[in-house]
Amino acid sequence: MIEQIDKEYVLQTYARNYVNFKKGINATLFDENEKDYIDFTAGIAVVSVGHGNKRVADAIYKQVSNITHMSNLYAIEPQALLAKKIAQFSNMDIKIFFSNSGAEANEGAIKIARKYGQTQFEKKRYKVITLTHSFHGRTITTVKATGQKAMHTQNFEPYPEGFSYNHSIKDVYDAIDDETAAVMIELVQGEGGVQPLDKKEVQDLANYLKERKILLIVDEVQTGIYRTGEFLASNLYEITPDIVTLAKGLGGGVPIGAVLTTHKDILTYGDHGSTFGGNFLSTTAALEVLDILEETKNSGALDETIIHFQNKLSEVYEKFTNLFTKEVGLGLMRGLRVKDGETLTQIINEAFTQGVLVLKAGKHTLRLLPPLTISKEEINEGFKRLENALSKIK
Ligand SMILES: *Cc1c(COP(=O)(O)O)cnc(C)c1O
Repeated sequence: MIEQIDKEYVLQTYARNYVNFKKGINATLFDENEKDYIDFTAGIAVVSVGHGNKRVADAIYKQVSNITHMSNLYAIEPQALLAKKIAQFSNMDIKIFFSNSGAEANEGAIKIARKYGQTQFEKKRYKVITLTHSFHGRTITTVKATGQKAMHTQNFEPYPEGFSYNHSIKDVYDAIDDETAAVMIELVQGEGGVQPLDKKEVQDLANYLKERKILLIVDEVQTGIYRTGEFLASNLYEITPDIVTLAKGLGGGVPIGAVLTTHKDILTYGDHGSTFGGNFLSTTAALEVLDILEETKNSGALDETIIHFQNKLSEVYEKFTNLFTKEVGLGLMRGLRVKDGETLTQIINEAFTQGVLVLKAGKHTLRLLPPLTISKEEINEGFKRLENALSKIK
């Protein structure tokens, strides 16, 4: 039923699985036949505090019973409080603009970089350097910022100018010229294969760019909001970027994105805006999400969960060296490199049959992004099911 309606009325831009989820409790989902699934995807790192989170639901209900939305022409109390909280948590001296998605947050970051390049140098700078295997979004500009050839199809040409790609941080230095405004990176490349960058290399680059007043933009749409164990992966890498973008985990499932910048006065009245960005609904949800995650972090529960998850993952890796070539990732952003893409597809499908949801990243990485509040029991059960699936793959 759902499949037929979907295929008739929804643009077919996804290869969907037609399971019909009806209910969720933390990292466990139930479909219409009451089959349960352990969720190691969290809606791609979005459902940071689990499905059906009562505290977030209550906070949202209370807010939307009064005001869901007004507009950014009027003060929005939860938006101001959320900005203050993000600034405190990030330990950065910043101001924040709220958007509705990761791509939009990156658009905002690129606009700041462009205006910065226009106004802060004698000769105009507009170029943004990114890495191959990166992912920055699906708008025309962020597709072009994404360093994957396959995404730059002729169908959507012409793309905005000024983007170039480098294979590694070491190559970035040579690519910088007197028109370079910014370098944009993910600290753990998510879609590109759960690949963490080297900490020392990142710190050296950050210092190099700072000396030359070139902006460092860190796309933390996936790595942010405690995904790597710290509030920002930038905190873990001990760097202070000029711009950080957030989205996925911030609203616990309610769409929200954010651009954090230490350059507080580059964008001024009229330079940027959004109808929905930072409204009462999304910022109220995010405030509650951050309260929950702050408690989870401060109680030591998050660090325990990360260690337990990592141990279980290593056990699986050791047991199935016939299928896997490498363990990758940080925190609760983890992956296993699979020997080939075809095997990976088999694993994802068989895992689904066994009742555990897992993701693909890049060409051949099995990617795991559980809710940050996943319980020990859910982790154990999920890996048990994953092992059942793996033992069926040749
Ligand atoms: C998911 C993602 C985006 C795009 O976010 P959307 O909300 O889908 O627009 C951008 N950058 C990174 C690193 C991502 O993981």
